[in-house]
Amino acid sequence: MTNLILLGPPGAGKGTQARLLAEGRGLTQLSTGDMLREARASGSPMGRKVAEVMDRGDLVTDEIVIGLIEERLAASTGPGFIFDGFPRTLAQADALGALLDRMGQTLDAVIEMRVDDEALVARITARSTCATCGEVYNDLTKPIPADGRCVRCGGTEFSRRADDNESSLRTRLLAYYKQTSPLIGYYHAKGKLASVDGLGEIGAVASAIAGVLDKG
Ligand code: AMP
Repeated sequence: MTNLILLGPPGAGKGTQARLLAEGRGLTQLSTGDMLREARASGSPMGRKVAEVMDRGDLVTDEIVIGLIEERLAASTGPGFIFDGFPRTLAQADALGALLDRMGQTLDAVIEMRVDDEALVARITARSTCATCGEVYNDLTKPIPADGRCVRCGGTEFSRRADDNESSLRTRLLAYYKQTSPLIGYYHAKGKLASVDGLGEIGAVASAIAGVLDKG
């Protein structure tokens, strides 16, 4: 089993790298952001409850996201999980540790993706996503192909996230520094933390992450 966490501020590239790892290594990507967006799109009571919080850029309650992860862990089999955007608080980190313990599994690595704030704003305000498969594009570094078709699935509809605007981003960054960045010290103390430069090209960051994982 390989279980790893991708940790980093919004726009660090966690989702992009998680998808590459899932494809390359057969790991299951567990993105709480994607799960919450699905709940919103489905119009479920929980989805309606979290919509406003997400649009503002604040964190959804620990109880909700821990519940989502618990359900997915119970339902999935495979060689391991990539936690993308989870945990985001110390309470979530403790809960994840307890869940993995209960399953007789371990956390192998926590990879911090370091990107400076200026780059994050530039990345996020240029970001769009394929509405069909979730492939992420960037107007500057990875534009939607000229024929308007997604490189992964051929889909022709693309959307921008409601929270990818400067005001929500400011709140999301604050939430990251206040509530999530303490996890860097937490996992460092547990001997699990590795850091990679998240500023480079997608392939270079992927190689750096592979270097961490393959070193064991
Ligand atoms: P993301 O797609 O990871 O950027 O998440 C989008 C939004 O979903 C965040 O700004 C939060 O409002 C919410 N969210 C996602 N994951 C979590 C989490 N682990 N804890 C709390 N809120 C979360």
